Amino acid sequence: MRAVRVGTAIVLMAVVFWFITGSFAAVSADKAVTSGTGVPILLYHRLGPTVADSMTITTPVFESHLKYLRQNGYTVIPLRQVIDCLKNNKPLPPHSVVIVADDGHKSIYTDMLPLVRKYQIPVTLFIYPSAISNASYAMTWNQLKELKETGLFDLQSHTYWHPNFKVEKKRLDKKEYEKVVETQLKKSKDKLEKEFGTKIDLLAWPFGIYDDYLSGKASEAGYVAAFSIERRPVRSGDNMMSLPRFLLENANQGKSFERLLTGN
Ligand SMILES: [Zn+2]
Repeated sequence: MRAVRVGTAIVLMAVVFWFITGSFAAVSADKAVTSGTGVPILLYHRLGPTVADSMTITTPVFESHLKYLRQNGYTVIPLRQVIDCLKNNKPLPPHSVVIVADDGHKSIYTDMLPLVRKYQIPVTLFIYPSAISNASYAMTWNQLKELKETGLFDLQSHTYWHPNFKVEKKRLDKKEYEKVVETQLKKSKDKLEKEFGTKIDLLAWPFGIYDDYLSGKASEAGYVAAFSIERRPVRSGDNMMSLPRFLLENANQGKSFERLLTGN
């Protein structure tokens, strides 16, 4: 009886020991991932003098981000560099970030461009062509070409008219939906390639909405990578058709911005 009890106690102690050391190992592995070689992609939409809506970051706060990155030894690398590392299974560069902006709002031209020039950083813009030279809030084709000529901006696709694919899927029958998906992916790529004479093979999902069907269609249309709005850094081995990006808000300044970069 006593021998059985001792035996049980030993087994119990072993289980407790395994549980504690196992948990510690899990915690430290997790820390290594978040503070290790991930590259945060910082996503902006609109700048301006005041916070007009949740998608606006004031221009001084945007500049404070660029100052912080410079003062703390971060390198702003082109999005293309991240894609090349992932495609070729090369390690992602340490202490690096990527800056992107979705939608082609006119404040990218008036407010972001001067700061991009001042800090000489690469930026990727995701554009939906139906708005360009058309919607009052959007840039014109000439303004986009001016951005391109700086050599600092890469212009890529955000579909043709920024549909909500979840809504479209509910609204349309299967055939119609498939047609809309194909048009959104291809027409945008064709139009941007025609306007800029460059390769368009990166796609930002409108509203961050994607699924396996959409990812497959994007690959078929010739996109090599696509981006969501999952809040974490890009890591080696990530799915190329749903790479994460941090959607920034005006509250992400000071300590909040620092935590976002360090994952702490
Ligand atoms: Zn968008």
